[in-house]
Order: sequence, then structure tokens, then C-alpha cells
Amino acid sequence: MNIISLKNISKVYNEGSNEFRALKNVSLEIKEGESIAIIGKSGSGKSTLMHIMALLDTPTDGHISIDGEESTKLRRKQLDKMRNKTFGFVFQQFFMNAKDTVLDNVMVPLKIARVKYSDRKKIAMNALEQVDLTDKAESRANDLSGGQKQRVCIARALVNDPKIIFADEPTGNLDSATSEKVEEILFGLNKRGITLIIVTHDEELAAKCSRQIRLKDGKIIEDSAQRKVKNEK
Ligand code: ADP
Ligand code: MG
Repeated sequence: MNIISLKNISKVYNEGSNEFRALKNVSLEIKEGESIAIIGKSGSGKSTLMHIMALLDTPTDGHISIDGEESTKLRRKQLDKMRNKTFGFVFQQFFMNAKDTVLDNVMVPLKIARVKYSDRKKIAMNALEQVDLTDKAESRANDLSGGQKQRVCIARALVNDPKIIFADEPTGNLDSATSEKVEEILFGLNKRGITLIIVTHDEELAAKCSRQIRLKDGKIIEDSAQRKVKNEK
């Protein structure tokens, strides 16, 4: 079963005289439970591809299906709902409310999903347990180390019980010892069945994934699940 299917996706920024084609006719099928590394040089289109797969941005052309449902046919509200119930996000820059507690940060998606407070707290504490941070629940987010902040972001990504976690350079701001713990948590979640899609510069991290997809100039030039793709190298 394909959890994500992309057909002939193109993305053009600044349509018109100044246009830039960031993705060129990209097709890709991702199966449930895979761990995928999207690799390639800076500017090759990795983040653009991830944002389109995660329904955070719309393609200029092409079709996307998530879990068998074509997203291009959905309205805004349905899209938001699908994104909330299916996806968790982990970014390089953490994106937390620095002055709020760790627990408050982890509860945010549940608040958006209108889960009642007592349940929110229970679910969030359970997510913090999965990243080994229950003891920091009442700390201010800002007082944590980089690695701890990223683990809070992973906990926050878990509260809606996602099928897919998207991580854009999740260890990009971390030293190698701290990265290891974050990677361990992400791959542990993958073992439990969550599909993992990681955008990374880090070839070592990429090699730990079950499948590597390499982009160059907005095209897939290599996919370890197939042979080398077409004419490019
Ligand atoms: P990567 O994540 O691989 O570094 P991106 O997907 O962020 O690459 O960007 C791919 C290309 O698209 C880059 O050349 C970038 O400058 C361009 N780009 C990205 N976002 C925009 C935007 N909002 N407007 C115009 N160009 C953009
Ligand atoms: Mg990027």
C-alpha cells in the first residue's frame, strides 16, 4: 500500500519572467513503514518536495495521493484535517514557544484538535515519555539544550498519533552525540510502523534509512529502490 504517491509533480516559483522551476516532473511512490532519506545539494529541491508531500505547499502541476486519497481534490479545511491527523513534523529550527513549558508546547496540536485538557495532558506526558523527557515537562522550552528541544519537537509530532513523520534536517543544528539520540528515537518510531521521511545533508544519517532518494536541480537522479534513474549519471 502506497502511503504517498506523487505523479508528475512540478513546482514553479515566481511564474512569469522571473520563474524558477524547483521541481521538474517528479514521480514517487512511498510505502507505509519505509524510512526515506531525501538527499541532494542545497537548492536541489529537497525542502520543496517535502513541503509538497506534507501538503504544506501546493504543486504547480501534478497529483498527490495520501493514503489512497487524492489531496488535490480536497478543500482547505479537509487538507488541514488530513495534515493534522496523518502527519507529524520535525524541523531543524525547532519552532517552539520558548517561554512556555515543555508540556504546553507538546500539547499545542491537541489544543488545535480540540482535545479536552485532562486528555491533552495525559497524551502529551505519554509522548514525553517516549522521548525520555518526562522530568522536563514543567521546564521552560527555552531552558533546554538543542538535543532536548528537538526531542520535545518529536514528542509534539507524536501526540496526534501520526502515520508519517516528516523531518527536515532534524539533526542539522545538533552535535554528533546529541544527533545520535534524536536519530535513535526517530528510527525507533519507524520500527513501530511510522513512515519516516527525512531531508538531510548528512550521508551517514541517510544511509541508516531503508531507502535513499537523491535530487539534483529539481529531479530525482537516484532512487535506491530502483536502479539509477534514467540518463542522469
Ligand atoms: P533544498 O531544500 O534542497 O536546499 P529548496 O527546496 O529549499 O532546496 O529550494 C529549491 C530551489 O527553489 C532553490 O533554488 C531555492 O532558491 C528556490 N526556492 C525555494 N523556495 C522559493 C520561493 N518561495 N520563491 C522562489 N524560489 C524559491
Ligand atoms: Mg532545505
